[in-house]
Amino acid sequence: MKKRNEFLVFGAPTIERPEIDEVSAVMESGWLGTGPRVARFEQDFSAYKGVEHAAALNSCSAALHLAILAAGIEPGDEVITTPMTFCATANAIVHAGGVPVLADVDPATMNIDPAQVRRKITARTRAILPVHFAGRACDMDALCAIAAEHGLKLIEDCAHAIETEYRGKKAGTIGDFGCFSFYVTKNIVTGEGGMVLARHEEDIARIKVLGLHGMSKDAWKRFSDAGYKHYHVVDCGFKYNMMDLQAAIGIHQLKRVEPYWRRRSEIWQRYMEAFADLPVGLPAPVEANTRHAYHLFTLLVDRDSAGLARDEFLDRMTAVGIGVGVHYLSLTEHPYYQQTFAWRPEDYPNATRIGRQTVSLPLSPKLADDDVARVIEAVRGCLVKRRGSS
Ligand SMILES: *Cc1c(COP(=O)(O)O)cnc(C)c1O
Repeated sequence: MKKRNEFLVFGAPTIERPEIDEVSAVMESGWLGTGPRVARFEQDFSAYKGVEHAAALNSCSAALHLAILAAGIEPGDEVITTPMTFCATANAIVHAGGVPVLADVDPATMNIDPAQVRRKITARTRAILPVHFAGRACDMDALCAIAAEHGLKLIEDCAHAIETEYRGKKAGTIGDFGCFSFYVTKNIVTGEGGMVLARHEEDIARIKVLGLHGMSKDAWKRFSDAGYKHYHVVDCGFKYNMMDLQAAIGIHQLKRVEPYWRRRSEIWQRYMEAFADLPVGLPAPVEANTRHAYHLFTLLVDRDSAGLARDEFLDRMTAVGIGVGVHYLSLTEHPYYQQTFAWRPEDYPNATRIGRQTVSLPLSPKLADDDVARVIEAVRGCLVKRRGSS
């Protein structure tokens, strides 16, 4: 039983007995690095997504980097992405030698706006990198149409979107590549970890080679009892492989992906009902014929209507022991991008406004009903009182 005043950590993962035992088994086996459990996790994840192949890596950042390279991006090529994302999305484009170009988001869905994407296409555009923000499916029909029309690759950032579906298709299987994260705050976790799906098998093969120094395939098998095998370096790769220690966690987390999703969807509904009368922005209804992954529940706190500023709201929630998050300040707010690409917040008004007003509330399946009630009470305490006193 949690104490009433215990701090509710934002995005705390739910770790259960089977993964603890599997990690112990890995430790006892002595094979900690990339091996049979990574192969198993790749198979299980492919089966979950209904595809043939997947490549497990040590992060979604690595997955994005290698997907962009496998997409054939060359120095100076432009990749259109969203300002409403984690910095890793844009950084992966830069690391691959590309130039990130932003298209503003739709103010209701917070996802990249296909009309804005069209406006940003130039002779150098090679790919579109949408993010299924908070777990809400992007307008994939429109994005696929633009990609087909202009011969662009489509790389889905599915860091929030393990369970997301769009018109009967699973997120990460709609574009050319899908990249997933198992970071500690994501819907299922391996500590650090990521996965890539690709439409073409040869892309997955290339990603596996690039993910392990550029060594020829199955290099991890070279120390096995099948006898020593030479490897050959066929590309200049990276050290991005997942370890069996991480896959041991992922195998069991993946088995609970649906019950975890159901619990988050319950909490989401509770929040929607509990905040309906408050002077804040709530998430837009889930689009017909899509499945939301319910990764983040966000409120928009506008000082003029709410009676307090977003940052003040963050402070008050923290003061009463509720961990909150900001996903995200628009990329255009950060000095690196301002200095390197001359991005200005005012050029992306929707992302800028959302980034300055948004607050993410705890949405972990670990939350007990009492915890959810505490979050609701704290949010209402910040907002109802204010309105009454103004
Ligand atoms: C978390 C996240 C990433 C990076 O994932 P890592 O596994 O931590 O590298 C990329 N994009 C988005 C949208 C994310 O939320």
